[in-house]
Parts: sequence; C-alpha cells; structure tokens
Amino acid sequence: MISGTMPLLYTPDHLLHAPGGEFDQGKIVDYRDSPERVDGIYLHLIARGLCLPVRFTRAAGIDDLFRVHSLQMLDFLEATSNAIQDETRYQYAETFPIRAAMAARPKSLAGRLGYYSTDLNSPVGQGTWQALLSAAGLALQGAEMLMRHETSCAYVLCRPPGHHAGPDFFGSYSYTNHAALAASRLMALGQVAILDIDYHHGNGTQAIFWEEPRVLYTSLHIDPNLDLPYFSGYAHETGGSQAPGSTFNLPLPPGITSGSYLAALEALLRAVRAFRPAALVVSLGYDPYQGDPTSAFRVEAGAYSAIGSRIAALRLPTLIVQEGGYAVETLPALAENFVTVFLEGMLVK
Ligand SMILES: [Zn+2]
Repeated sequence: MISGTMPLLYTPDHLLHAPGGEFDQGKIVDYRDSPERVDGIYLHLIARGLCLPVRFTRAAGIDDLFRVHSLQMLDFLEATSNAIQDETRYQYAETFPIRAAMAARPKSLAGRLGYYSTDLNSPVGQGTWQALLSAAGLALQGAEMLMRHETSCAYVLCRPPGHHAGPDFFGSYSYTNHAALAASRLMALGQVAILDIDYHHGNGTQAIFWEEPRVLYTSLHIDPNLDLPYFSGYAHETGGSQAPGSTFNLPLPPGITSGSYLAALEALLRAVRAFRPAALVVSLGYDPYQGDPTSAFRVEAGAYSAIGSRIAALRLPTLIVQEGGYAVETLPALAENFVTVFLEGMLVK
C-alpha cells in the first residue's frame, strides 16, 4: 500500500509525438498538447516528494488496445505512423466525410484520417504510434498494480490525452483512450466507475462504454452547446438500451465558480457511491482551471485541493489518468494541490 507517496507512471516516449502546430481561426498556433505539459508535472511531483516514479515495464500492443478500439482504426494509426519518413512531418486530415453516406472506408491515408478523426487537432506523425502504445502500456501497468493490491492509488501521467478517442474515432488531441483501457482491465475486479473532470466532455469514453452496464461513466464539463465536443455530453445522454443509467453527464455553464464546481462534483460522487464500484478511474484534466487557455470557468488553483480530498473520500482503489490541461506554467502547482490532499485523504484510516 502507499506510504505517503503516490506511484507515478511516466515514460519519456511521449516525446516521440510532438506536432508543431494546430489551426486556430485560420492561423497556425503552437500545438497545445505540448510535451512540457506532463514533463513539468513529473519533475515537480518528484521534486516535492509527493510521488515515486515507477519503472515503465512495457508498451501495450494492438491486442490490448483492441479491447476498446476497432482493429481497423488501430491498423490505420500504425500504418500511417509507419508510412511517414520525416520525423518532423505530421499528416493532417483534409476532409471529413459523412460516414453514413459512404459505401466503403476510403483507401488513402488522407481520406482515412478524415474518416476516423473528428477534427483537425489529431495529426499523425512518425512517432505517434509508439507514443500511443507506451501511453496505453502505462495505463495498463497502473491498472495491474491496483489489481495486485500493490497500491490503493496510482497516477498515470500519460500523453497524449485519450478521452476523446472512441471505439472507431479519435480527435481533439486524443487517439487511443487510456482511461477506458484501464477501466476495461479493472473490470476483472468488478464494476468500475469513471470520473471525468476534464473541462471537455469525454465523448470517446462515453461511446466506448455506452452499452456496458458494469462501467459507470460520469462527467463534469462545459456545456457542449458552447464548446468541444459539441455533439455529445448532454444531460439527456444516460447510456444505451443495454446499460440505462450508466452514463451521467453534468454540463456546466461558463463562469462557474470554485464553490459551484465543487457542488456539482458532489453530484457525480454521489452517483459513484451509489454504483458501488470495485475501482475508480479518474480522467483528470486540469483545464477547468480559470487560467487555462481553453477554460471559461472560474475554478481557482486552490480548488484542486478540495477536488483531491473529495475523490479520496470515496475510499476506492483509484487510478488517476492524465487528460487535458494547457496552462503549462501552472500545471505543476495544480497537480501538487491535487496530489497532496488526495494522498492525505487516502492515508486516513
Ligand atoms: Zn479538455
């Protein structure tokens, strides 16, 4: 079990995936999912003595990712990465076909990239596939530590984020869904709850478990009428016909304060408690923070202490999986706030 520090799962393989830019209102700007995001958190949490690095044991394989994604999409990602000869080149989607109107999947790389991706923010480069396999491997390694009861909690500090990657689609910096992969592995213990507190709705995670009654997906996010992913995350989405009530979306208005945000979080935590899961996966995005370039909330840095405390109070084996958060300078402090109080809560007998 833990002894005052959190096991931290990290590998520098994420550096293999570093697109140079993204489109923003007709301009090309720096790619927001930068390597500095997780490297800053990693160095800070270790330096503060809050986390203990865990040796990375293995990258995942297609067989692992096949639990949550279609083989066609995985084959496409691998083939596209392998086809790119120049390590600085990233392939961006050019068209977004209407799937329902298509007789067959497109054959060209550019056509298939548009077929699978939901937006322009997930270009594929030479190192993307290996970075994804390593990130997925970290998530599986963390899940297996919980399953072997080596620890009651672990922090998977992976990149790129994953919660926008669904069974047969990806986008918004995500390609493969590491929180969903960990949850699917943890189902060996029993029911699993996912608490998604990224600023954006985890449309990929919701889609993966839409018909799975043994997984509760809960999410607190900006109203999708106003921001990404726009087409899901509404309160009326509550799970498929095979799993009614297994999805709980709580969209929030812009300008919400720390106090109101924490009150909304309590609603999700009540749903998690009522579900009586054997394990919890937290999709942890720091982008609700008021200083985040994507955020319209007024959630202060100090709120991450309260968030950590309230999640720890669930008293569940918990895997923290890194999602978004783009205020690069502040991310280490937000992570410190969260981890410090989360650990204190987990250590209370
Ligand atoms: Zn986000």
